[in-house]
Amino acid sequence: MLPGKAMNEIQTKCRQCGTCCLKGGPALHIEDLAIIRSGKLPVNSLITIRKGELAHDPLTGRVQAVAYELVKICGTAREWRCFYYAAGKGCTMYALRPSACRVLKCWDPDEILARIGKDLLTRLDILAVGDPLRLLVEEHERLCPCPDMELIRDALLADSLHDLAELQRLVDADLGFRDQVVKAHDLPLAEELFCFGRPIFQLLQAVGLGITGTAAGIKLSLSEKTQ
Ligand code: SF4
Ligand code: SF4
Repeated sequence: MLPGKAMNEIQTKCRQCGTCCLKGGPALHIEDLAIIRSGKLPVNSLITIRKGELAHDPLTGRVQAVAYELVKICGTAREWRCFYYAAGKGCTMYALRPSACRVLKCWDPDEILARIGKDLLTRLDILAVGDPLRLLVEEHERLCPCPDMELIRDALLADSLHDLAELQRLVDADLGFRDQVVKAHDLPLAEELFCFGRPIFQLLQAVGLGITGTAAGIKLSLSEKTQ
């Protein structure tokens, strides 16, 4: 028994308080594919975190570049809160919640920590063979891979990033690709975020690069400017 706590205060099951849901939606695992295939978890409620993007790693406690692709339930508007969490109601898909939510025990995190990075679902697991979006996901990865945002963040902090030409090329290629696909396939924003993750310029802005919108497109700079 913990010091100062009565036996009945020790938590042994989920109270559905929603604290974990407010911190963000779960990463999906292979066993969650059936929920997606059933149509109960549509791709427009998912977001892809590409290899190289920054994310909080519960194992190290650091915000660092992810070494593998993650497909997660997206947040709500500009908040991290899980898309399926409703104030006053809690999880609106509780009976069908993904595997990571089922094994999460905030009072005993060993099981969830042991699953991190294992049996993860990817976009290509989710998109059916023959879906034209599969080829576009692969093409986008080939043309516009996400750079290692941890290296860029650290270089900015060390004042050792001076040449933005390659990053500017990536930003232009990424935006051009998205623009073409969105027009050709009438792709809503939510599906774009599943297929291609967040635009590279937004990721660069988050680590401290300046972003300026011009008639010719988004321009990067070393001094932080937003508009
Ligand atoms: S796992 Fe813990 S934090 Fe998450 S809803 Fe259950 S009791 Fe709350
Ligand atoms: S799916 Fe449900 S249980 Fe899981 S994080 Fe979202 S709201 Fe919480």
